Amino acid sequence: MANYWNQEIECMSREDMKKLQDERLVAQVKHVYENVEYYRNLMDEKGIKPEDIQSIDDIHKLPFLTKADLRDAYPYGLLAKPLSECVRIQSTSGTTGKRVVAFYTQNDIELWENCCARAIVAAGGTKDDVCQVAYGYGLFTGGPGLNGGSHKVGCLTLPMSSGNTERQIGFMRDLGSTIICCTPSYAAYIGETLHEMGLTPDDISLKAGIFGAEPWTEEMRKSIEKSLGIKAYDIYGLTETSGPGVSFECCEQTGMHINEDHFYPEIINPDTGEVLPEGEVGELVFTSLTKEAFPLLRYRTRDLCVLSRKKCSCGRTLIKMRKPMGRSDDMLIIRGVNVFPSQIETVLIEQGYSPNYLIEVDRVNNTDTLDISVEMNPEQFSDKMKVMQEQEKALALAIKTMLGINPKVHLVSPKSITRSEGKAVRVVDRRKLHD
Ligand code: ADP
Ligand code: ZN
Repeated sequence: MANYWNQEIECMSREDMKKLQDERLVAQVKHVYENVEYYRNLMDEKGIKPEDIQSIDDIHKLPFLTKADLRDAYPYGLLAKPLSECVRIQSTSGTTGKRVVAFYTQNDIELWENCCARAIVAAGGTKDDVCQVAYGYGLFTGGPGLNGGSHKVGCLTLPMSSGNTERQIGFMRDLGSTIICCTPSYAAYIGETLHEMGLTPDDISLKAGIFGAEPWTEEMRKSIEKSLGIKAYDIYGLTETSGPGVSFECCEQTGMHINEDHFYPEIINPDTGEVLPEGEVGELVFTSLTKEAFPLLRYRTRDLCVLSRKKCSCGRTLIKMRKPMGRSDDMLIIRGVNVFPSQIETVLIEQGYSPNYLIEVDRVNNTDTLDISVEMNPEQFSDKMKVMQEQEKALALAIKTMLGINPKVHLVSPKSITRSEGKAVRVVDRRKLHD
């Protein structure tokens, strides 16, 4: 059984969706050209006028925007509406550098919350649910976005924000929360705490979780589903395009449907900017078709991803994106080999370790070093040095098989790696400090 928040849009025929996107793009380009000097200059430099954009097929003519442009234009340079018409400011988490700010009109908030409502309904949410929002509130978009979506659906909303994990579990039990929204790393921590409190999934009423804001693996999904007794759904977004809700998972759990009536996706070759065909891995680029205050055209997310138009069993026709593999700038190049932290996470969980780990990269005598500290579960711990060394060797070998390079693995005692209540920091690249 599939439920939709906006069936007309979510199940629209391709032709109708294309028509809607054509109209919206033409109007949006005009709006941006007339109101955003920064982007007008980029278009003028390329010799592109709004009249050159007649349909979505012309989108490739438009210049890209990058995070560097956002920093250049900070704070008001990309604003397309007078401040008097804006009602909200949110900001990125600053995971990869200086924060950027985004502005919203009342309509922008509406469309964002509607996108989050689609995600909640796709995860089985109805007005009878109790939705605990444990993403951070404040400038970060996670809390406010899901909070708004939850209100729209009519769920009884618990604006918990992140942190104070035992209290989260206390309220979850007292108030019978059925849906939880937070980062996947925080969900794993909540699951762990639940078990430490001597409780099991039978002691709570959760049925679904909506997790995003950071990369996570299929193995992590399975582990969270088990520890909380739920179905775990992915949700994706970024502050620059609104926040969470740009795309969301349905019951099929094979990638996220993009709300392409608002956010037009492209995949490009990150080196050449060339648009790649469906099915190829590349950098995800979004054009906001409807936002008024902060309408970014062809914004390069740096997230590496694949798009798919394969028919989905849920009935939605919205294009799907695969779980992002991480950002192009998350990719580590170690001894010439490309390494994604998510590959390491996959091996750790497959080998029965917890998702609590820290990857440290350095350069010693001109050679890159890769050290991975991995936390043991209490039952994996042994006071025999030899046993521990053998476990470390076995894990190092499994990682070497996956990556092609030899790491140094350090098994560390239970609870010694800091838990994350928001976006987890799992990589320390000390080479950058020497440069
Ligand atoms: P920052 O870029 O400072 O982290 P945001 O809070 O806006 O700021 O985070 C957006 C980024 O978070 C995305 O570009 C993406 O890299 C990551 N992200 C969000 N949702 C997901 C998800 N479901 N899977 C993987 N990565 C995600
Ligand atoms: Zn689907």
